[in-house]
Amino acid sequence: MVGIAVNGGAGRYPEALRADAIRGVRRACEVGWDALEMGALEAAVSVVRFLESDPNFNAGRCSFPNVDGTVEMDAMVMTDDLRLGAVAALREVRHPIDAALAVLLHSGNTFLVGDGARRFALEHGVEPCSNDELVSREQLARWGLDVDDTVGTIALDRGGRMAVALSSGGTPRKRPGRVGDVPLAGSSGYIVKGSGAAVCTGVGEDIMRVLLASRAVAHLGDGPEAAARRAIAEMVELVGGRAGVVVMDVEGRVGAGFNTGQMPWAFITDAGEGGGGA
Ligand code: ASP
Repeated sequence: MVGIAVNGGAGRYPEALRADAIRGVRRACEVGWDALEMGALEAAVSVVRFLESDPNFNAGRCSFPNVDGTVEMDAMVMTDDLRLGAVAALREVRHPIDAALAVLLHSGNTFLVGDGARRFALEHGVEPCSNDELVSREQLARWGLDVDDTVGTIALDRGGRMAVALSSGGTPRKRPGRVGDVPLAGSSGYIVKGSGAAVCTGVGEDIMRVLLASRAVAHLGDGPEAAARRAIAEMVELVGGRAGVVVMDVEGRVGAGFNTGQMPWAFITDAGEGGGGA
C-alpha cells in the first residue's frame, strides 16, 4: 500500500477561500503521489515545496508576517528511521522545507534557528529571497481572519517507509521570535515505524503542550479516524486548544479530526482518494 495525505491548516476559512484551499491540497496530493516512486522522504518534501509556492497557504510565499512585518518561518521533516531536520524563525528563503531537509541530510544536528539556520541553508544551496517576496497583499488582507493555513503531509512509499513534512509562517500577528509547534517532532508531526504517522495544524501553543502528533500515533490501535478524534479530544480536555490532525497507518488507512471550523485536507492511496474539511 502507498499513500499521501495532506492538510492545509486548521482555522475558520471564509467561504470564498474554501474551494481554493481544497483544490490546493488535492493538487499537492497529486504532486506527492507522482513523487512517491522516489521514496517517502522525497515525496513529502515535494508536497510541502509545492504548497510553499501556493499563495493560498501560510507557508513559504504568503507567510503571515510578524507584528514588525518580518516573515519568520518554521519547518520540519522526519522519516520513520528517526532522521530529523527542523528550522525555526528562518527569514528570507523561498522554501523553508529545503532548509529543514538540508539540516536532516548535512548538518549532523537536528534543529537550527534564526540567522544560523539561514546561513547553513544558503551554504547548502537553498534559494534566498527578500522579505517582500514572501509577503503578499492578499495575505496581509487576510490578517484579520482566523485562518492558520500551515501545511503538512504524510507519505508512505512502496517499501513501507514513511515520512512527514510541515512548513508554516506561524500564527497571524505573532510576536517576533515566536516559534510554534511546527519544528517540534512529536508535537507537529511524528512517526512510529511499523505503526503510522500524524501531522497537526492549529494553535502551536496548544499543540506543543500535549505532544499532539505523538498522542495521535499512540492511539492508532483504535483505527486512524478514532485516533485523530481521540487525540483532539484529549487536547481539549487538557488545555482546551484548537487544532486538527491527519493520521495515516502503515497500511495506508487515513483519518482526520479537528475542532476548528475548517481544515482542508486530502489523501490519495492505492485504495482510493478522499478528504474534505472545508
Ligand atoms: N501550528 C502552526 C503554528 O502554531 C500554525 C498552523 O498550524 O497554522 O505556528
